[in-house]
Amino acid sequence: MHVSEQYDLLVIGAGSGGIAAANRAASYGQRCAVFESKQVGGTCVNVGCVPKKVMWYGAQMAHALHDADDYGFDITRNGFSWSDLVANRQAYIQRIHGSYQRGFANNGVEYIQGTARLTGTNTLETGGKHYTAEHILIATGGAPVMPDLPGAELGITSDGFFELTEQPARIVVVGAGYIAVELSGMLAAMGSEVTLLLRKERPIRSFDRMLQDKLFESLQAEGINVLTNSAVERVERVGARLSVHTRQGDTLETGMLLWAVGRRPNSMDIGLEKAGVEYNEQGFIPTDAFQNTNVEGIYAVGDVTGRAALTPVAIAAGRRLADRLFNGMTDRKLNYENIPTVLFTHPPIGTMGMTEDEARAEYGDQIKVYNTAFTAMANAFTKSKPPTAMKLITQGADEKIVGCHIIGPGADEMLQGFAVAIRMGATKRDFDDTVAIHPTSAEELVTMR
Ligand code: FAD
Ligand code: NDP
Repeated sequence: MHVSEQYDLLVIGAGSGGIAAANRAASYGQRCAVFESKQVGGTCVNVGCVPKKVMWYGAQMAHALHDADDYGFDITRNGFSWSDLVANRQAYIQRIHGSYQRGFANNGVEYIQGTARLTGTNTLETGGKHYTAEHILIATGGAPVMPDLPGAELGITSDGFFELTEQPARIVVVGAGYIAVELSGMLAAMGSEVTLLLRKERPIRSFDRMLQDKLFESLQAEGINVLTNSAVERVERVGARLSVHTRQGDTLETGMLLWAVGRRPNSMDIGLEKAGVEYNEQGFIPTDAFQNTNVEGIYAVGDVTGRAALTPVAIAAGRRLADRLFNGMTDRKLNYENIPTVLFTHPPIGTMGMTEDEARAEYGDQIKVYNTAFTAMANAFTKSKPPTAMKLITQGADEKIVGCHIIGPGADEMLQGFAVAIRMGATKRDFDDTVAIHPTSAEELVTMR
């Protein structure tokens, strides 16, 4: 018989969802432990949102320097040190690790370094030690995938991108989603020669068509060589370089290849069978609206559940679960509808709700669509002219807003406030009745006709 430590809540994974749930549960006086096999903070802090956004700010800086002379600044650019930026970025991430550890200490959450595996419905094990709790949360997140084709392993993924201490001079990026377009944009802005390979005709195909079109133009305007209908067949090393062969018969010579073709859940080696937890064909752990798995007392939040793989979603689901389990808020759950999201491209994209195609399929001719496109004032007389475009989709006689899609400088910061209004059920009339803030790009959203 193993001696087992007894807790109220055990959390597997110290990423966005796990940390949030453990801290919230501890605030209600529960005894909690969080297990982490790699680094505290998970994907977002170490190989996701945080290092990505730092690189995006670096790219913004490059864009600003490019246009500085139009604003009268006589600037000589003496180069760019990728390694200095990476060193500063990593020092910042170290500080975030420290603040998470202090948070755990203040809240009384125990942080345990190690890979945890379920051994039963109330038990788990790590490093030969056993732990028991009435409640166990799986928040193990995901990892990038590589396609199954010859030579694929010669490429890197987003994890490898964040390990680069030298700037790639020439890189081929494969993929069409968030990561492919974000990383392509920042690499190009910093001076890498980027080819983006799309296996279909457009990037970000699940987003509104207007965003797809404007982003496509922006990627090209940034100097990215975007190749459409181009699927990789095999990759070979030729001396110090890589040859990327496509099914269409093209060969691309490059110094580096980056796969951005999706992510898989971390669910295969965590003892799900021992506890009887069900998972689907892709390995995602299905949960009900309250984050319950099929096994009583075992829950899952975040990327491992396969729903809206975003940090604030994992955090919100984790906190609401703790509120429900430990603070008597029996109906508390996350509503997965109307989740705002931003793509950190250049210019950025902010989007929420239905695309025009989705709205038309659902509501037919009950929808009304408002569009505007312009150049932001900041770029009225600069060399670069990033596009700004906005679309509002309304439904029914009272014109409830069901979709809001923005691309343009500032779109990333613009959407959050509008998201509050839309979540509350705002109508076009509410937007019209709101006094504009001038001069901004955002004001166009309340003056559209
Ligand atoms: P994770 O953050 O992945 O945490 C899971 C943790 O569990 C990991 O630390 C892992 O090591 C640990 N773990 C796994 N198995 C075990 C085990 N058996 N024992 C112990 N520990 C284990 N989202 C946004 O909202 N905005 C962005 O700008 C954004 N940018 C992104 C950029 C990139 C390049 C990537 C890859 C993702 C980005 N995301 C972004 C998505 C975001 O990072 C994830 O949605 C979020 O991190 C999910 O949180 P999570 O808690 O589910 O899992
Ligand atoms: P995504 O699911 O967003 O995109 C992957 C895309 O790559 C697919 O949609 C597909 O597009 C294309 N693809 C798939 N397989 C292949 C292949 N073999 N060859 C070529 N292209 C292929 O995955 P990401 O990895 O970009 O990101 C994962 C998730 O992480 C995102 O969905 C998002 O939830 C989150 N994230 C959020 C960010 C943010 O909030 N800003 C930033 C980064 C990630 P198609 O079918 O059109 O070819």
